[in-house]
Amino acid sequence: MSKKKIIIEPDNILREKSEPIEKVDDELKILMDDMLETMYAAPGIGLAAVQVGILKRLIVIDISKNDEGKDPLFLVNPEIIFRSKKTSTYEEGCLSLPGHYAEIERPAECHINYIDYNGKQKNLKADGLLATCIQHEIDHLDGVLFIDYLSKLKKDMILKKLIKHKKELKKIIL
Ligand code: ZN
Repeated sequence: MSKKKIIIEPDNILREKSEPIEKVDDELKILMDDMLETMYAAPGIGLAAVQVGILKRLIVIDISKNDEGKDPLFLVNPEIIFRSKKTSTYEEGCLSLPGHYAEIERPAECHINYIDYNGKQKNLKADGLLATCIQHEIDHLDGVLFIDYLSKLKKDMILKKLIKHKKELKKIIL
């Protein structure tokens, strides 16, 4: 397994729509393993392939706490087939927007169809943190970031800070 570089906003690729995956083969499994390692190292609880620069509809998630042992979930071509009217609000962050958090309201429950690590068609009914995490990650596959749900003022403020942060990173490298 190898760790991949996580793309930080602003970057145009984060705004692109990811393509459906045709089949789960060994090459894709290597990518899934690499994404999981990258996510654990970050550390984060969810990562979409586009965040490591690959425009494929693939997500890895693990919302288990460290002391519970690892419980990874691989979602290939996930599709939301139900969203509850009831909503819930979590303070969300994102590995592509380091250091920034905001309260985001989303449907409290969602049902999805997806293909798993072994290429099997599955479905899942999610609520709580998992439902929010799945919706956040599926947004990535459609080029949507959590800051898109904020007011323009708040969004611009975060973007400005991220641009400044990127410039500072460059200075260190030089
Ligand atoms: Zn994210």
